[in-house]
This record gives sequence, C-alpha cells and structure tokens, in this order.
Amino acid sequence: MRPLAGGHFGVLWGILGDLDYFSKVLNLPRSTLADGPCALCRCKGHGPVSWTDFRTGAGWRNVQWTAHEWRLWDGRSKCPLFQDPDFSPWLVSMDWMHAKYLGHDQQTYGSVLSLLVHFVLPGQPESNLEIIWKDIQSYYKRNQTPVRYKYLNRLSMFQRKTYPKLRGKAAEVKYLAGPLLHVWQKYHNPRLSIHRDILLYLKLNLQIEEQIVDNKDSLAFPEEEAVRFEESVTSMLLLLTRIAEHFLEENLFNITQKAHFMQHVALLARCISPRLLWCFMGEDMQKRMSTLAKSCVRGQRPGQTIFKLFQRYRLALHLRFRKHGSSIVTCKARNNGSFSDAKPCRSGKTNFCFLLHRSVSSD
Ligand SMILES: [Zn+2]
Repeated sequence: MRPLAGGHFGVLWGILGDLDYFSKVLNLPRSTLADGPCALCRCKGHGPVSWTDFRTGAGWRNVQWTAHEWRLWDGRSKCPLFQDPDFSPWLVSMDWMHAKYLGHDQQTYGSVLSLLVHFVLPGQPESNLEIIWKDIQSYYKRNQTPVRYKYLNRLSMFQRKTYPKLRGKAAEVKYLAGPLLHVWQKYHNPRLSIHRDILLYLKLNLQIEEQIVDNKDSLAFPEEEAVRFEESVTSMLLLLTRIAEHFLEENLFNITQKAHFMQHVALLARCISPRLLWCFMGEDMQKRMSTLAKSCVRGQRPGQTIFKLFQRYRLALHLRFRKHGSSIVTCKARNNGSFSDAKPCRSGKTNFCFLLHRSVSSD
C-alpha cells in the first residue's frame, strides 16, 4: 500500500472548542453541572472536591483523571472521537480565550467598572463612566494598544439584572487588562484594604497576560515561568474569593466554573502554552467564513450556497498555498478576469480578494 500525502499523517493532540461545543457535540460534562462540571477532573460544585477551592492543597487536585481511570468510568462520553484506545481526557483542551477573556474577565472587569462608577467616584454613574472612558482612551493612545474598545461609555456595556458582566470581543477584553489597572490605580482608596486587594488582583492579572506574551514562542512554558504563572493564577483567584465575599450583598464579582478551567490551563502551562490552545484562530475563521457565505447567498437555490462557498474557498486556498512554492501570489480579479499581483487589494471589490487578503494578513 502506498502511503498518502508522501507519508505525512495527522495526529490528534488537542480538541478545542467552547463549552457549548464540549457539552452538546462531544457530550462532555456541562460546565454548570453541580455533580461534575469538568472534563479533566472529578470536582463538584461543593464539598471536599469543590472547584471553588482555589488553594494549592484543594481536594480536586487529587481527583484529576488518568486515562486508565477515565476509561473505566461508566459516565464517560460515548462520542466516537473518544473510542480510540489511545484517547486520554487530557486531549480535551481548556481554552484560555473562552475561559478567561469571554468569561472570567467579563465578570470581573464588569464588577470593577460597576464599583468605580457607583461607589468610588463621587458623581453620577453616567458622568463617572465618561471620565473613566476618557482615561482608558488616553491609555490606549499612550501605550499604542493594538485592540481597543470603540466605545465603553454606556452603563449597559456592563450592567445586568444580576451580576455585572462586560460586553465585548475576546481581543477587546484581553487588551483591557492594562487600562483597567490604570484607572483603578488612579481612583482607588489606598486606605481601604479591599481596594488594595483589587489593585493587587489587577496587577497579577496584567502580569499573567504579559507572561503569555513573553513566552509566545514557547511550545510550553519553561519550568521557572510555569511555576510563576501557576502561582500568579492561584493567588489571583484566592484574592478574588476574598473580594467576592466582601461584595456578596452588592452582587459584585461573580465567580464561575471558568475560574477553575483557568487553573487547569495554568497547571498545564509547563506541558503546553495557553496560546496554543486558545480559539482566536477558530473565531477568525468563523468570521471569515461568515463573510464568504454572505457573498454566496444571492441568486442561489437552497443548498447551492454551500457548494458555491466551498468552490470559492478551495480556489482561495489553492492560490494561498501556491505562495509556498513561489514568492509571487497571483489573484484573478473577478471583475476583469485578469491576473494581478495579490498584494493587499484595499478596494475589497471582490469577495475573492477579500478572502485571500484575510488569509495573508492573518500570518
Ligand atoms: Zn477540573
């Protein structure tokens, strides 16, 4: 038998996705399940192995799955992907982007902003938020922040009926760590210990984000960095527990299971960098495909859109991959049928060009 693809083959080394995908498609435990919300350990919502225990001696750390124990468990997912004898639950990758930026951070940042506008600054919440937004904008400018909120000057951006939760895209939330520390540092009351706790929390938060950037070329964090990263995440979550208890009556600082998933990612950073397990690329791809799909709908009978979409996608990939063999990428513009250099065509006149450029610019 002749090997395909010149002997190259695929290896399953990580399964990525959001929590909805994990539970609905892969039949992994639902993250809100009190009886066992985690795919990597046998923690529970309360009791001696509660996920809410963030200490280094927490009970759940002793009930993390081994591949052998998982295979003997009757309640395991029967998803065909997991039937391979070499499958281990550790192939299920917790995603830093969904756990932190689109979860934990949204809850915490929303509470910090709510605290600032309602309790810390003296004016009306709306005018307080205007002041904070101006501070954030000047921080963005001063520090050349690559991804910024376009506006954060409405209370509806973080106010909810229950706990505050900040709206925004993952990258916008990610790059808010610095500006938020800046505004809290500026307006907090250093005589109040709970304010100092929040300050320390935000400093640790920025530190772990910087550590991820500093180690961006590593497949896994070097041992010393991994220890520091894990300790920072643990300290940050322990501080947050204290802060949340303090503001229990005010309904601020909601802590969800995503904090526990962050701890798993931190524990595994010595084996694999969180950057390699986050879904930013998947989200980019989704956006790209959605734009492409919209361009394929007009004039098509039901069912033809998908066909047209993949035809165009295949063509774009073909041109994209040709780049590997040649430094010149060519692009057939739809309008005039001629070949031209595919350096960024800012016109965006053809969807085809748009797709190709998005691929190029994502390098
Ligand atoms: Zn767990």
